[in-house]
Amino acid sequence: MPPRLSFAAVVVAAGSGVRAGGAPKQLRKVAGEPLVRWSVRALAAAGADPVIVVRRPEDEAALLEALQGLPVVFADGGARRCDSVRAGLAAAPAGADAVLVHDAARPFVGAQVVGRLLEALETADGAIPALPVADTLKRGDAAGRVVATEPRDGLWRAQTPQAFRREALRRAYAALPASEEPTDDAAVLERAGLRVVLVPGDPLLAKITYPEDFDMAERLAGAARIVRVGSGFDAHRFTEGDHVTLCGVRIPHDQGLLGHSDADAGLHAITDALLGAVALGDIGDHFPPTDPRWKDADSAVFLRHALSLVQARGGRVLNVDVTLICERPKVKPHREAMRARVAELLGLPLDRVSVKATTTEEMGFTGRREGIAAQAMASVETPA
Ligand code: MG
Repeated sequence: MPPRLSFAAVVVAAGSGVRAGGAPKQLRKVAGEPLVRWSVRALAAAGADPVIVVRRPEDEAALLEALQGLPVVFADGGARRCDSVRAGLAAAPAGADAVLVHDAARPFVGAQVVGRLLEALETADGAIPALPVADTLKRGDAAGRVVATEPRDGLWRAQTPQAFRREALRRAYAALPASEEPTDDAAVLERAGLRVVLVPGDPLLAKITYPEDFDMAERLAGAARIVRVGSGFDAHRFTEGDHVTLCGVRIPHDQGLLGHSDADAGLHAITDALLGAVALGDIGDHFPPTDPRWKDADSAVFLRHALSLVQARGGRVLNVDVTLICERPKVKPHREAMRARVAELLGLPLDRVSVKATTTEEMGFTGRREGIAAQAMASVETPA
């Protein structure tokens, strides 16, 4: 397979959204988050670099708040959609192979659609996601009377993001007369005689146009995110010392734990569970034990890093459950302090963090009191 094309995304959010009523619709919330945030986050997570948000200057402060923490650059929108796209395209870096143009009113962009578009660009100037027309098409007159039934063969409903070779899109827009106002970007390439292909669209890419569409968006928001589960396991050997650190809590003991960092098997297992949930390797990949920076490190650093990787993918941690396995020290008196510390590190309510303890009935290495083991599970919600 050839290496994937590098791409920038242009998110058009310069409309006032009057048809949807009230505030600009790109700022209205869906499932607790501004509409525009959904697609910007999904495009960034799919590899768009940068994501260019085309907006009205008066909306910038509100958009900065709505898009907090996401890697975006802004461009000034124009009076018409095509003017806004031109402005966004001008802000796309020359090094980008492709540009994806997207309407902020379609919040639920899946990584699979982006993958299909980029693959299609290997052999085309443009690619658009589209769904076949399934409903019977009627032509009506001004009085609302049916005057004809139209054939629907070969008809498709075009969605966004639409993907283009950057240079092809630039040339096509340069050739577009200022008086023409296409309703999508593929039409600009079609007019220039360039090759645009259809790839399978996604019902989740439905456009939010009218106030009642927000109810549908609330329902779709559930399907646009998935729950992932990860597991982690860790063990550290006892050595000389006067305390152990487990789940971020220092416990006086007649031995210590051997490790490059603070040897907190509990936090290490939770860190691996988070990394596992988003399939980003393990703690050793991110914090090699050969790196002197992590000598005697507080393992909270590792856990916070794993959390930041989850968040960078648009995810959030739902809950964690860790089991500490040892004969000594007794874990129970420290359990609540451990839960509180892990909850604090992950920004979770206390009832989303469980710390359990068990022995192995004096069997195996934990039973022989050679060390302490921990296993953890974490569930994480991310864009689908
Ligand atoms: Mg470890």
